[in-house]
Amino acid sequence: MNDNSISVAGYRTKVLLPVPLAAPLDYLSPLPLAAGTFVKVPLTGRLVNGIVWDEFPGRDDKELPLGRLKTIEEILPVPRLTAPHRRFVEWVANYTLSPLGAVLKMTLNVPAALCEPPTRRLYHKGEEITARLTEARRSVLAVAEDGEARTAKELAAAAGVSDAVVRGLGQVGALITTEVEVDQPFEQPDPNRTGPKLTPYQCEAADAMCRDVRAQAFQPSLLEGVTGSGKTEVYFEAIAEALRVTDQQILVLLPEIALTSQWLKRFSDRFGVEPVEWHSDLSMAQRRRAWRAVAEGQARIVVGARSALFLPFKGLALIVVDEEHDASFKQEEGVLYNARDMAVVRASLEDAPIILASATPSLETVDNVARGKYARHFLPHRHGGADLPEIEAIDMRTDGPPSGRWISPILEDALRAALDRDEQGLLFLNRRGYAPLTLCRACGERIDCPNCSAWLVEHRYRRELQCHHCGYTIPSPEKCPACGVKGKLVPSGPGVERLEEEIRILFPEARLLVMTSDTVTSPRTARQFIAKIESLEVDIIIGTQIVTKGYHFPRLTCVGVVDADLGLGGGDLRAGERTFQQLEQVAGRAGRSKRPGHVYMQTFMPEHPVAQALLSGDREAFVREEMAARKRYDMPPFGRLAALIVSGPKHERVRQACNKLRQTIQNVDGFEVLGPVPAPLARLKGQFRYRFLVKAKKTALLQDYLRRWLVRCGSVKGARIKVDIDPQSFA
Ligand code: ADP
Ligand code: ZN
Repeated sequence: MNDNSISVAGYRTKVLLPVPLAAPLDYLSPLPLAAGTFVKVPLTGRLVNGIVWDEFPGRDDKELPLGRLKTIEEILPVPRLTAPHRRFVEWVANYTLSPLGAVLKMTLNVPAALCEPPTRRLYHKGEEITARLTEARRSVLAVAEDGEARTAKELAAAAGVSDAVVRGLGQVGALITTEVEVDQPFEQPDPNRTGPKLTPYQCEAADAMCRDVRAQAFQPSLLEGVTGSGKTEVYFEAIAEALRVTDQQILVLLPEIALTSQWLKRFSDRFGVEPVEWHSDLSMAQRRRAWRAVAEGQARIVVGARSALFLPFKGLALIVVDEEHDASFKQEEGVLYNARDMAVVRASLEDAPIILASATPSLETVDNVARGKYARHFLPHRHGGADLPEIEAIDMRTDGPPSGRWISPILEDALRAALDRDEQGLLFLNRRGYAPLTLCRACGERIDCPNCSAWLVEHRYRRELQCHHCGYTIPSPEKCPACGVKGKLVPSGPGVERLEEEIRILFPEARLLVMTSDTVTSPRTARQFIAKIESLEVDIIIGTQIVTKGYHFPRLTCVGVVDADLGLGGGDLRAGERTFQQLEQVAGRAGRSKRPGHVYMQTFMPEHPVAQALLSGDREAFVREEMAARKRYDMPPFGRLAALIVSGPKHERVRQACNKLRQTIQNVDGFEVLGPVPAPLARLKGQFRYRFLVKAKKTALLQDYLRRWLVRCGSVKGARIKVDIDPQSFA
């Protein structure tokens, strides 16, 4: 219907809002507005920011007449959201089965960036004044004599007077005022500073990637190379080329961005400035400045965590995903998406190349290379001839420590030898706290969380037991909460704190550093810790997975994996792959420079394929075997998976919802539904949880199948159904 010509003056305009709606809403605009325009509109009594959207397949019968539409309140002073970005929002919503508006929300999450940029008033020296001056005024003018521009506050503070004096001088013209934007532009990176001279292998990879950048077409490639082979240096070349030959932007996604001060340092060495950062540790003002600079195209290089993918780039010339295998690229709350996969989608919509870098690429990526969808560039050696560390298994069945201790004599000796050579040691144990379980010797009680099906973890420094899933905390009890007997509670199993205790006994002289998310609480503490290790103020580092990420410590030669079997339990599809990646990363910290490295893996299963692959250094064999197993069971990357997680506070309701889902399953060729089964975390934060797993052929239309199923099932009061496409976590 065409009602734009009738009595109501205005244009029907689609506006997508950052609220969980599946489609844009209609508004009235006095002028035609281009898609992508940022606007403010009324919605149920409040004003919200939104984006003018393109035509959207709507239902005509539901269309309100023009006369009843609300009017767009304001056009916001922000460059338009580009068409590739709008298609990206639609793509992610469609793929993850999320409401369109929920995906847009990940872009529109900095309201302060959508207003006129804030300004402040600066004062500097003006005309000479002949009138008599007060003492206070004279001292202000004396400070201003240097001609520098300052805020009233700064100037007043420097002169030791009140702000009013400065403003008064401004009014009489003795000081000149200028309004400047609070957010200064970011300094521009310089692509032409010289990087290191690349080796022939590095050159070949860099050349190919620079060619892709010049072609400015979608081209995914895997940059694979052992830890320390120079992957970062190589993709820096591609970034430099993108700066040189385009005026567009570059996005680098890193896991755990806050902990990578070493990466940032290398970046500034190479490009002469710091990159624009985007992650959860930014202040509101930093966020506003960065978001705005990205939208205006002024921020040329952005390095960020997965959420940076939703920044409003003007145009992307290149995306890099470093450590592409890392599980932290998967967002497990809200819109469930894998930033690595969505980065590939975004690159294709932007028609830009994308580089996935890793020493241990995910099997999905390996498979995409095998199918010819991704190019592959390989760096076979560590830079500078440093050898890969020698890896040795310690069989805990025969060579383990006495009971109640966790460091085997072989590992102890190796550490001692390293310290004697003035080298450093690292003990890796992916368990925070003192002990993962507290047990009552009197009644057998294991202290668990009232909200989750999980044990409480003892944190001895803080004298607390804590649930690592919901944060529930109690003071460490003296008597058993079940039987009330005193003095019979004992810790069971080791965490890093308990390891520290043991190391203090074995090495009373050694300087220890414990790195976990409990001790590394901010980017600043991370920097301090790393500086300490670099300046050799630390002999032994004890840490969880946060020490595995990309660090380069030349004196670190001895790495001990305290429990190499830890990640293999639990029946997770990717348990083997993950464990391999993690242990290879830890091992990769050893002997990165002149001094050779040794890695000791304490294990009860030295014959396990993961251990065997690590010991022999034969990743190819491991990948081959793992692929074959996945193929046998049609598991990713050969088939597709989706999980449905049904949850709610009342067990009965959740079971009802599961029954309804069960009854509405449609038998379609190429799909198989497993479940429902109680989730491994059958209770989480007070919610009961059940899981369905949908297995589909690679070519099957998984999303369509799920959408139809959910419509048939309808809703059940008191139960929530969450869809997780390509699940990474099976908890
Ligand atoms: P990766 O990212 O593969 O782990 P890096 O890029 O971090 O490897 O390189 C490891 C170390 O070797 C870094 O300190 C890096 O500066 C250095 N390096 C790599 N390639 C070269 C080169 N061609 N010339 C000089 N130093 C290099
Ligand atoms: Zn809990």
